[in-house]
Amino acid sequence: MNDTGIIEPIVTFRDRVSNVTKDGRRKWVHASQPKGRFYRYRTYVSLFYLIVFFALPLIKYNGMPFFMLNFPEGKFIVFGNIFWPQDFFIFAVAMITFIVFVALFTVIYGRLFCGWVCPQTVFMEMVFRKIEWWIEGSPAQQKKNSQGKLSSEQMSRKTIKHFVFLVISFLIANTFLAYIISLNGLLKIMHEPIGEHTILLTGLIFFTLLFYAVFAFVRDIICTTVCPYGRLQSVLFDKDTMQISYDYNRGEPRGKFSRAAEREIGDCVDCKKCVQVCPTGIDIRDGIQMECVGCTACIDACNEVMAKIDLPKGLIRYASENEIATKSKFHFNTRMKAYTVLLGVLLVITTLLMVTRKSIDTHITRVAGQLYQEVGKDTLGNLFNAKLLNKTNKEFTVEMKLENVEGEITMVNTNETHMKKEAVNDLTFFIRINRKYIHKRSTDIQVGIYQNGKKVQTVKSVFLGPFI
Ligand code: SF4
Ligand code: SF4
Repeated sequence: MNDTGIIEPIVTFRDRVSNVTKDGRRKWVHASQPKGRFYRYRTYVSLFYLIVFFALPLIKYNGMPFFMLNFPEGKFIVFGNIFWPQDFFIFAVAMITFIVFVALFTVIYGRLFCGWVCPQTVFMEMVFRKIEWWIEGSPAQQKKNSQGKLSSEQMSRKTIKHFVFLVISFLIANTFLAYIISLNGLLKIMHEPIGEHTILLTGLIFFTLLFYAVFAFVRDIICTTVCPYGRLQSVLFDKDTMQISYDYNRGEPRGKFSRAAEREIGDCVDCKKCVQVCPTGIDIRDGIQMECVGCTACIDACNEVMAKIDLPKGLIRYASENEIATKSKFHFNTRMKAYTVLLGVLLVITTLLMVTRKSIDTHITRVAGQLYQEVGKDTLGNLFNAKLLNKTNKEFTVEMKLENVEGEITMVNTNETHMKKEAVNDLTFFIRINRKYIHKRSTDIQVGIYQNGKKVQTVKSVFLGPFI
């Protein structure tokens, strides 16, 4: 019962997310910087990640972007290979493979993706938070600043921080735009009058402000409330899932440390360092929580404490619920095996689809409304249209040959057989076949498409003859 006589429910850590107060207001998380092995490894991974993210749109291969996802034009370049909407099924399979990959990883390693490679975590913890510590001072200092009136120095530091955040957000938005319209497209916008690119510039400003808002204000709410992947954890986890766990068997009952007396309680000295470094503001000692993004900061913080008081490290560590409860070893269960097999099969299919992808896409149709023509006494002819798409950025000449029946193909306009890079050519041609091979009204034919003398595709169609 509170001061006003109202009976309040007993609020525990599972009744509300960590960054919301009892009365529903935002609880700002001032996370401290962890020091330790995992933080060092995460810094290396993030450095590599950031270099790849910012450098990929700058790389060119064979005169075109190495990586580009141009959704408006339906043109995608992945590692120097052009993919068109016609290849969309490969993307669909690759996407399913990626989802299974993430799901499999989640079942085995929990939120490894969130803690190590999610863009939100990488940019928040390794870029924006570091800048904040650097400009505004320690989390304790920041907390103090947020409670009282800001001095002019603190005010200017805050202003500089927000300006730097805005500049980095602008840089991220530009990089994303370069992934969509390529570096050349981006440079073109910069050099041409603003009025010619109003939509793109509006998008650029919108995403700059969005990233700024996310990293300056929304922050951990993305992980604890907005991100759908985080909400999926409860259905993907089982008792054998590896996650960041507090070893309560070893740590409890917790209590202050004293060098003078022999320790007769658990190893947790209740220093709360693990809570202070947590970017989502949770206490991992309460148990597995949806808000834990698996960042490993609490492992480093606790290991540092354990090292100082000469107790074994690993009170907080990567371990499954079963490992902690039964003190057993990691178990590769049936679900994990099934997912691994499924992932292997999908990886093979995706690789095969990528490797066997054709450089030309051809569609052949008989010219509508035309019947057969008699050419001389013993030959029949049909008129066809073909649409050829050159999926590469190379020029070449195509040739067509009848594959399953003797006959000849005569182009109406031979110029159209030369394919320019990334071009679509419309061809009109006659197929002429000797009557002795036509035994029915509709004869199935196969046309081989040859690129510089090498067969790259076989297309099926129908040849019309007289009623027999
Ligand atoms: S509990 Fe530990 S691993 Fe989880 S988010 Fe907090 S600091 Fe990171
Ligand atoms: S850092 Fe380790 S010792 Fe300190 S409170 Fe957390 S679990 Fe206990």
